[in-house]
Amino acid sequence: MKTILVDLDGVLNEYDGQYVKDFIPPLRKDARDFLQLLSQSFKVVIFSTREEFLIRDWVESNNLTQYISSITNVKTPAFVQIDDRCINFNGNYAEAIENIKNFKPFWAKSN
Ligand SMILES: [Mg+2]
Repeated sequence: MKTILVDLDGVLNEYDGQYVKDFIPPLRKDARDFLQLLSQSFKVVIFSTREEFLIRDWVESNNLTQYISSITNVKTPAFVQIDDRCINFNGNYAEAIENIKNFKPFWAKSN
C-alpha cells in the first residue's frame, strides 16, 4: 500500500493561524470521512511538527485511530503530501516564486 502524508493543522483540524502549542483545534467537518476513504487505499501518516503524544491523544479522542497508520515529523517516503501550506513544484522556478509571493492558505483567503 502506498503512503500518504497528511498535515494536521489546517487540513484535519480547524486551525486558523492562531498556533497554541498545547492545544490542537477541533476536527474539521468531514475530516473523518476523508481519512476513512484514504485509509481504504493508502497508509495514512500524519505529518506534523507538533508533539507526537498530543497528536496521539487528539487522534484517539476523535476516534480516528483505525484510519491512521503512524504519526511523524520526519518526511517519510510517500506517494503525495496533503498540506495547507504547500506549493506544487512543477519544474518552473519563476512560477514557484510567483506562487510563493501570492500564497495564502485557504483558511486565510477571507482575511
Ligand atoms: Mg498545516
